[in-house]
Amino acid sequence: MLTKAPRGTKDIMPDQIYKWHFIENKFAAICRKYGFEEIRTPIFEHTELFQRGVGDTTDIVQKEMYTFEDNGHRSITLKPEGTSSTVRAFLESKQYAESQPTKYYYETQCFRYEKPQSGRLREFHQFGVEVFGSKSMLADAEVIALANDFLTDMGIEDIELRINSVGCPKCRETYRKALQDFLKPNYDNLCETCKDRYERNPMRILDCKNESCQEIVKNAPMMLDYLCDDCKESFEQIKNYLTASEIEYTVDPKIVRGLDYYTKTAFEFVSNNIGAQGTVCGGGRYDNLIKEVGDIDVPGVGFGLGIERLILLLDALSIEIPKPLNDKVLIAVMGENAKLFGLKLLSDLRKNGISSQMDLMERNIKGQFKFANKINAKYTIVIGDNELETETVSVKNMADSSQKQVKFDDLVKELSH
Ligand code: ATP
Ligand code: MG
Repeated sequence: MLTKAPRGTKDIMPDQIYKWHFIENKFAAICRKYGFEEIRTPIFEHTELFQRGVGDTTDIVQKEMYTFEDNGHRSITLKPEGTSSTVRAFLESKQYAESQPTKYYYETQCFRYEKPQSGRLREFHQFGVEVFGSKSMLADAEVIALANDFLTDMGIEDIELRINSVGCPKCRETYRKALQDFLKPNYDNLCETCKDRYERNPMRILDCKNESCQEIVKNAPMMLDYLCDDCKESFEQIKNYLTASEIEYTVDPKIVRGLDYYTKTAFEFVSNNIGAQGTVCGGGRYDNLIKEVGDIDVPGVGFGLGIERLILLLDALSIEIPKPLNDKVLIAVMGENAKLFGLKLLSDLRKNGISSQMDLMERNIKGQFKFANKINAKYTIVIGDNELETETVSVKNMADSSQKQVKFDDLVKELSH
């Protein structure tokens, strides 16, 4: 028990971390290219924020949140998603009083009590972006273009962008009734979760993963046929803007985001290469969220992109992430004087930005060479009495075993490239 991580969590070990660094740097670079700024928000918030922001009727709030009472008797919840906190910070800092739009990006841990399986964890990581303040479909096109650019840049071609409109509260109400009427005769055949969704969130039944539910909704009425004029026009606009941006998409009337606050545009980037949990990125417009949380009418649009799923996909497509450049130096020492000189050299090399180590286990020289191999050192420098006398060391290139004699004074220069 003590040596096993909690179910649904995963350690990211040092041999995998280079992938995360690479992906994180790439995402940040693309966000900056698009003029987004990074925001970091707390890992927990008041429970009420998510009840309001994500919505009482969603799967997340109903059954997936990690909620506890802290010692001050406050109800606290570990972030199940990133948007709500970002909205809270936007409101708290009164950013809405500045000229808009506000464009944020972030990486966050998320916690959801779900049944763990491939691509579904209880602690996972998301990249997210949010644009606040713009009602224009240009903002929707911008966040979709950013996600598309990032995925393409990662080398992923085999992924499909699917878009839909989930309407607005006005047209959704009519649709909701039509959908319920359609589902009613088959109510008994819905899965238990969907029976529950029938009243509180019937649109969610459309993207239930259960086969029998999928069969039932096959010919269900679609939101697209119920859009009001304004929502219809917006949907035409987003399609035009994507086409103008040379971004391919398909219209998928079954896409509904799991969160209550979404309006108009909903989209997903879906892959067939990673099994049932194929949605790597999901997002859309949420014109009613900020009002719900802070009583200030500001529209928004954004996405969340699951990093674990992204890595699953990269692995499935055999897309290799470049390993970091190996520039490590191991200083091997023989004898007490050599050790002292080694420490001084180590300090010089490190001051000059050269990644260098001495063996902390005080092994013999053979053991130190073994250690050099273990840490995958690029160069090994041996220092013994002889070297101290001649003030010259041999620098061994571990890849081809070639050796080079280098004066002490020239070492930094020699190892700097
Ligand atoms: P799903 O239908 O797969 O449950 P969702 O609608 O709950 O997804 P969002 O809330 O939109 O997902 O989250 C955005 C992204 O975060 C998802 O597209 C996915 O890549 C990732 N994600 C969501 N839940 C998990 C999880 N439990 N484990 C790992 N990644 C997840
Ligand atoms: Mg979910």
